[in-house]
Amino acid sequence: MNPARKFTLFTFLFALTVAGISDYAAVSLFRSRFMKFSVSGIADLIQIHAFKELESFDFSAQDLKLAQKKFKVFFEDIHSSGVIRLEAWSSSGRILFSDDSALIGKDFSENKKFQEALSGAITTETPMKHGYDASLLTEVWVPVFFSSEGGTPSGVMRVRVNFDETDRLAHDTHILVAVIFLFGVLMYWFVTVFVFKNFILTSMRDFDKFKLAAEYASDHIILTNREGVILYANTAAEKITGYTRKELIGARPSLWGNRMPPEFYQKLWRTIKDEKKVFMGEIENRRKNGELYTAYITITPVVENGIVNFFVGIERDITEEKIKEKMRTDFMTLTSHQLRTPLSGTKWIIETLQKGVFGPVNEKQKEYLGVLDSSNKKMLELVSDLLNIVRWESGKQVEPEIINVDSLFGELMAKFASVAASRDVILESGLSRYSGWKLKISKHFFCSILENILSNAITYSPPKHKVVLSVFEEGALLVFSVRDFGIGIPQEEQKKIFERFYRALNAIRFKPEGTGLGLSVAAELAKKIGVKISFQSEENKGSVFFVRVPKFS
Ligand code: ADP
Repeated sequence: MNPARKFTLFTFLFALTVAGISDYAAVSLFRSRFMKFSVSGIADLIQIHAFKELESFDFSAQDLKLAQKKFKVFFEDIHSSGVIRLEAWSSSGRILFSDDSALIGKDFSENKKFQEALSGAITTETPMKHGYDASLLTEVWVPVFFSSEGGTPSGVMRVRVNFDETDRLAHDTHILVAVIFLFGVLMYWFVTVFVFKNFILTSMRDFDKFKLAAEYASDHIILTNREGVILYANTAAEKITGYTRKELIGARPSLWGNRMPPEFYQKLWRTIKDEKKVFMGEIENRRKNGELYTAYITITPVVENGIVNFFVGIERDITEEKIKEKMRTDFMTLTSHQLRTPLSGTKWIIETLQKGVFGPVNEKQKEYLGVLDSSNKKMLELVSDLLNIVRWESGKQVEPEIINVDSLFGELMAKFASVAASRDVILESGLSRYSGWKLKISKHFFCSILENILSNAITYSPPKHKVVLSVFEEGALLVFSVRDFGIGIPQEEQKKIFERFYRALNAIRFKPEGTGLGLSVAAELAKKIGVKISFQSEENKGSVFFVRVPKFS
């Protein structure tokens, strides 16, 4: 049965059951209320008539003949209100009058109902129906008082009442209520089915559009219900997983997945189902033929009126890309490390020669050693930038950690004090007191960004100029600022300084060696760890760079 039919049948049966139960409850309530009402009506009637037609001593059996006559008249008077039997009981439990003459004179003082009535309560009992043409017979015990002060009743009347009228009324009510409910059910059913049908039709139309767009896409695309059961899979899904569409539909993505740790899937479901957000990430899967592959997945919940109805899963097979990337990273790591060792060695040899350890160095030799030294330094910087790129691309060292801003600030100041001193630049701290601020960020990448900016500020400042490192609050953000009073960046070149290998002309003139890689790496790292870099600069006046990062509390 298709879901629309299932839904229709379900709503109909549900509504019918609700209507049936409500009808039964309403009529039962009505019947019991009405009975109670009728019983108290009969009791009142007996009391009123007794007050009018009888006297207290009629129940004392002093003149039994006269009393019985009066009881007979009494019975005839109230007969029309449904009373089909009457007995008058003395307060000692003797039957003084009954339309069944065999009972007259009998003593029933032990009768429980009688005793209850004697204590002043009106009680009822449903007797057997023998010999009566009635469907709802009730015996009512009514204490009869002749004094308005109450006390012990003079006697008790036991009447048998035919509540057929009440029953008939209840029956009619039953039919009426049933008809109303049935009408309600039909209306409800009609409206729901009509609305649902429309909804299904619109969804089908949307689904057709979706299928049209997804069918021949090169990425694997599936549509699942909120439980993850696949409703649709495109051609690429068949090709990538190796399963046929028949095998895919009705199954779950665990058919080709389920290879990641449980926490991964917990996080995935939490994101898409509870937080109703898009989940993206790399995942390892297995094709039908057993081959493993890496995919980049994007799962989007389809939310309507706050409820997740479907999920759209897109997978891109990135196995080849990953292999290529790994080869490239391995190559870069290898070459960078291989270059660093001889360069560090060369640096040490140059320094040793410059110090004159192997004999005095003449002016010309000093000049050449200087050139050698600066070329070597340039190479070392390039290698360090390359290593940063490799680290960033391989995604290593991105794990955020909680950092104390004061100690980070101290570390940076200490690290750059000697660099500034070697260039005769004055490094100042703009943090005058303990801040207590914290950050949650990848320390390695964040420090790389700040170090790069600080190093530039020192590099592009002439001797005796100041470089000031500060940090201040800006709402939920902390802003690290590095201000220098150096060469500045020409207005027309400011747009390009974050491009790889770009160097402004005044910078090349001021310091010919430089890679033009530092800021581009810093910008990429910033994007990766969610910080913002901006700057203001004026040529020959100086620059100020800002690094904005969310505060951790
Ligand atoms: P490098 O410093 O090796 O040239 P960067 O990527 O770090 O490479 O910087 C790119 C360019 O941005 C520099 O060449 C320079 O023109 C400009 N620049 C960066 N910081 C400053 C600064 N504090 N003062 C002046 N120019 C700067």
